[in-house]
Amino acid sequence: MKVAVFSTKAYDRQFLSAANSPIQHELVFFEPRLNRDTAILAAEFPAVCVFVHDQVDAPTLELLASRVTRLVVLRCAGFNNVDLQAAADLGITVVRVPAYSPYGVAEHAVGLILSLNRKIHRAYNRVREGNFSLDGLLGFNLHERTVGIVGTGKIGLILGQIMKGFGCHILAYDVYRNPELEALGGKYVELPELFANSDIISLHCPLTPETHHLINTEAIKQIKPGMMLINTSRGALIDTQAVIEGLKSGKIGYLAVDVYEQESELFFEDLSGEIIQDDIFQRLTTFPNVLITGHQAFFTAEALYNIAETTFANITDIEQGRPCANEIRA
Ligand code: NAD
Repeated sequence: MKVAVFSTKAYDRQFLSAANSPIQHELVFFEPRLNRDTAILAAEFPAVCVFVHDQVDAPTLELLASRVTRLVVLRCAGFNNVDLQAAADLGITVVRVPAYSPYGVAEHAVGLILSLNRKIHRAYNRVREGNFSLDGLLGFNLHERTVGIVGTGKIGLILGQIMKGFGCHILAYDVYRNPELEALGGKYVELPELFANSDIISLHCPLTPETHHLINTEAIKQIKPGMMLINTSRGALIDTQAVIEGLKSGKIGYLAVDVYEQESELFFEDLSGEIIQDDIFQRLTTFPNVLITGHQAFFTAEALYNIAETTFANITDIEQGRPCANEIRA
């Protein structure tokens, strides 16, 4: 199939081209993101392949459908950037990669927890400048601490398994219980109980209307003073302005985010030397107890390999008229 591949970096091209070599779909790589302005690039393509920052909204889908595009192939799991109802109405099939790096994301979350707690990011800079003082680097043992996991699907479960290894207690909240998490000794509770009793809260649920700004002023009132908040899921799960107030008051003791509500203006690009216009993001970067990574939790060689393999299996299924287990519907 002829596929317009949007939002491609060198690493995407490398892994996608390698996976495609035995299959020989006709790929054309475009660096820009797909949106209503760039949809014209896909005019001759029955399929478009996109990632997390492409805007697959109704106007974009209408432009695609007015030409020959009938398939949207997501190279990611989350699909909050796709208007699934509009796609269905226009006869466009949408497929995704439901799991490509659950270990990678969970391990990154653990990396953030350890770095924040033991201030490894600060110690790294200090030692390079010949400053071996320990002042300000005091951490806490993870052993016997309580980790609250919101969303106990693939990534949340793995985080639970890893944190269990540190000797942590696990509290969990999800709309469905995961028996594997319960088998670990994880205890499902309602959100207020999780908020009140967790030393560390890590978010692993999808972004939906129900989870939008899950961590807001009300939630921050309920959390344990000085707790640690980790978000590797989607930026809009937290109300960043409310979290900044929580950091200023000390109610939030530590924050690490791999995702940010307005990240599409920033992440995946080298903006060094440019003036960042986002004052909320810039304020976040000023806190010594905040650690930010630019949506890199998924970024392992295994994940890029799995994304490429599943992407082409999905395309081949649809091309050959087979049911595709990774199709998503409104
Ligand atoms: P998953 O579908 O396996 O698990 C998500 C869990 O969230 C499910 O158990 C689901 O029942 C639960 N959930 C749904 N609505 C909820 C709600 N209102 N409250 C609480 N729980 C709810 O997904 P996953 O593979 O574990 O991925 C989780 C999220 O991680 C994805 O949605 C995606 O946004 C994010 N992600 C981020 C990266 C990254 O690089 N930072 C990479 C992959 C995925």
